[in-house]
Amino acid sequence: MKILGIETSCDETAASVVEDGKILLSNVIASSVDLHAAYGGVVPEIAARSHLESILPVIDEAVKEVGWDNIDAIAVIQGPGLSGSLIIGVMTARTLAIAKQKPLYAIDHVHAHVYAAFLTEKANSLTLKAYSLPKEQPRFPLLALIISGGHTQLVFFRDHFKYTVLGQTVDDAVGEAFDKVAKILGLPYPGGPAIAKVAERGNPKAIKLPKAKFDVRKFDVRSNVRGLTSHTKGDYRFSFSGLKTAVLRASQAIAGKDFTLPSHELAGLLSGSQKDDIAASFQRTALETLITPVKIAVEEFKPTDIVVAGGVAANSELRRLLSESFENRVIYTDMKLCTDNAAMIAVLGFYKASLGQPAADPYSLEIDPNLQM
Ligand code: AMP
Ligand code: ZN
Repeated sequence: MKILGIETSCDETAASVVEDGKILLSNVIASSVDLHAAYGGVVPEIAARSHLESILPVIDEAVKEVGWDNIDAIAVIQGPGLSGSLIIGVMTARTLAIAKQKPLYAIDHVHAHVYAAFLTEKANSLTLKAYSLPKEQPRFPLLALIISGGHTQLVFFRDHFKYTVLGQTVDDAVGEAFDKVAKILGLPYPGGPAIAKVAERGNPKAIKLPKAKFDVRKFDVRSNVRGLTSHTKGDYRFSFSGLKTAVLRASQAIAGKDFTLPSHELAGLLSGSQKDDIAASFQRTALETLITPVKIAVEEFKPTDIVVAGGVAANSELRRLLSESFENRVIYTDMKLCTDNAAMIAVLGFYKASLGQPAADPYSLEIDPNLQM
């Protein structure tokens, strides 16, 4: 079964064809990230206009080798994401599903991130040559840490479509925190890679930064797995906005100023080594905030494998810390499949189609910018 995936949730216009949920046949991504860099973050209006320009050429390129006749179904991102961006993907997919008479599957973007790790083979093409894929598909029960510019979520899967969201961020996503701290330090957007680079030179213990604590009694797990015992060991929520503010206050103090100094003036007042220390201390605190709940969840749910998905999975210090604790049970896919892509949409589309999940109505499918797993 060959599925065409379409992804347009944020600033990447992407299309991909995947066979049987595991063989990557094509993966095309047009990013408008350079257009947003000047603003230090994604501008929704610019993103939507870029999708409009790129979507048809991107789909053409993805389908070129396989041919429309061999596509069995279309899977499209329904949400969460930016409304203006989602509309372009969903309307294009609806039109194609009707015109080409293919079944249409609506996909949750965050759920799909986990499914990028199910790709284990690829076509013998020049464009896919550099992709390094896991050798085996992840095994259930599975713990998934989804960490990106838009999401921070820990999910326990007993099987396909049988999952419990153990916790998610109550405010900023971890990638967003990397991006905002980078902005404070005058580093380029997206901030994650830049922070990771300067953090290598800094002292991660130079500045003590706070980690969010929650009132466990108010902890509420949304579960769609009947029979999964409601757990008590861990509080799997995340929070990064306090950390971000703490970095701002620490930076102002290091620069010898008070809280009234605007953040955009800070970078010019900090030395290179001060920035390195701030980046390293922030990164250490952010990564510990991610890893502690993973350790508790592993103890509580005893997953066979752990999948780390999303752009922040690129962080090499995170990978080092996780491998220290869990060795080879942690599965990462290629970086080009960790950040937003359409192959993950196609893989989840395959499982929806092959496991009898309902198809969407191409005449009425709506976007859902606030879709939650
Ligand atoms: P995504 O939202 O999945 O497309 O991933 C983009 C996010 O991942 C942005 O917030 C980046 O700052 C972040 N990111 C990318 N590379 C790294 C890295 N090496 N360390 C931390 N964050 C990263
Ligand atoms: Zn994403």
